[in-house]
Amino acid sequence: MVSSFNPDLIELSLGHWIGDRLVQDDPEIELQRPSDAVKYASCPIASAEMVDRAILTAKSALKSSGWGTCRPRERTEALHCWADLIIAEGEKLGQLESVSSARPISQSISIDVAVTAEQIRFFAEMADKEGGDVIPTDGNHLGMSLSEPYGVIGAITPWNVPLSMAGWKMGPALAAGNAIVLKPSELTPFSTLYIAQLAVRAGIPAGLVNVVLGDGHTTGTSLIAHPDIAKVSFTGSTAAGGAIMKTIASTQIKPMTLELGGKSPQIVFSSADLKVAARCVARSILLNAGQTCVAGTRLIVDRQVSDEFLDLLSVAMSSYQAGPTWDATSDYSPVISERQIARVETIVDAAVSQGAEAVIGGKRMDRQGYFYQPTILSRVEKNSPALVEEIFGPVITAQTFSAEEEAFELSDHPTYGLAAGVFTKDLSQAMRAVKRVEAGTVWVNRYGRSRDHILPTGGFKASGIGKDLGKEAYKSNRRQKSVLIEI
Ligand code: NAD
Repeated sequence: MVSSFNPDLIELSLGHWIGDRLVQDDPEIELQRPSDAVKYASCPIASAEMVDRAILTAKSALKSSGWGTCRPRERTEALHCWADLIIAEGEKLGQLESVSSARPISQSISIDVAVTAEQIRFFAEMADKEGGDVIPTDGNHLGMSLSEPYGVIGAITPWNVPLSMAGWKMGPALAAGNAIVLKPSELTPFSTLYIAQLAVRAGIPAGLVNVVLGDGHTTGTSLIAHPDIAKVSFTGSTAAGGAIMKTIASTQIKPMTLELGGKSPQIVFSSADLKVAARCVARSILLNAGQTCVAGTRLIVDRQVSDEFLDLLSVAMSSYQAGPTWDATSDYSPVISERQIARVETIVDAAVSQGAEAVIGGKRMDRQGYFYQPTILSRVEKNSPALVEEIFGPVITAQTFSAEEEAFELSDHPTYGLAAGVFTKDLSQAMRAVKRVEAGTVWVNRYGRSRDHILPTGGFKASGIGKDLGKEAYKSNRRQKSVLIEI
């Protein structure tokens, strides 16, 4: 049973985690709690020199510990100890997550902490199972593709699910024999800093996991452009992903994985179990108040059932309980900041002034903090930002169709292709949709990941390059060396 907590009593220390210590730095970015808009901490901005110090620490720890060349099972065991400690410290980690981010405590311990530990275990178990290949050659040769770690990985994460994102980057990088320097979002640094400290307590050699705090412009750019960063792993907006590609192209060519934004469709066919579909669609758009990359923001529903479905969806979306993230009864989050809620308001107001109808919601909630009403917009103009841009708030648009192909055409987005949902009882129709929809992940009669971490995640088109999770994430943290031996 999860308990509520008092955010004023949570001990918060901010500094860069380099090696085995918290390095203090000048506080620069003022942080406000999204649940009540109270100023509560200030985040430093690591300079290029501080970033350099973290990267050199990582490089030297990699060399002195032999982490990349040790018996792989040693890495597996150390990572399992880390996962054990994450679970043991779950309450503290959950509170650190919920004090600063939009993640309610009712979910941050049971979902974010638990899943992060599971994913670390998943990657830990790959360390001694995934190897290279022996290549078919003639009898006078032995050909091999060897797999080896890159060295130091530079990772950058967003604010929306900070702990999970840190786990997605740190788990595979370490299991694959690398060291990592990670910059979390300046808005939500606490849980990432704490799991880095737990890594050292778990026996992972100090210096393999480092966290530098700061903004994208100074700290982020210094990190990715550093010559000793062998590979970049980024999760965030498509705009920042583009800026990162430019920085890398103009400094030093290196591999990168980019997990970016989305504007994911959910197609509800007339044969679907409408009650199940309404529950799934509501959850997909209200989880974290729509601030998930895969939020199902575009409902595309068969005209024959659209009135009934919108009624069911309105009821499902109205059943969520808004409240501060530290209140165990809340399951509906605030938007992360004043700036972000103002953006949601601007987009919704513009759509309504162009003729859209707010079926439910459409306004900021009349309460402390940055809470926006669960919102369904119908009759939205084709080129309206509400239909085209990633809003990152609790807003879903509703469009109708009368023929299957029309539904597929509506599902196409000019730039994004992250995820999609399909609801139907007709198996052939489901399979046609799975093959036709342009998205890196398609969920049928459900919406959202399961806890099978073997399924990779990543987007098509401007939603990203490469995959997180799955074997692909492990492999993308190792590089291949071709060897040919003359016998
Ligand atoms: P953001 O792009 O503003 O920031 C993400 C991170 O990048 C932050 O740490 C930020 O400081 C840093 N950053 C920003 N500009 C940078 C630059 N030029 N160089 C280096 N670093 C830079 O995103 P956000 O607002 O924190 O998060 C929301 C976005 O993240 C949404 O677009 C969402 O879809 C995306 N996201 C994607 C996935 C995925 O798996 N595809 C998962 C979670 C979030």
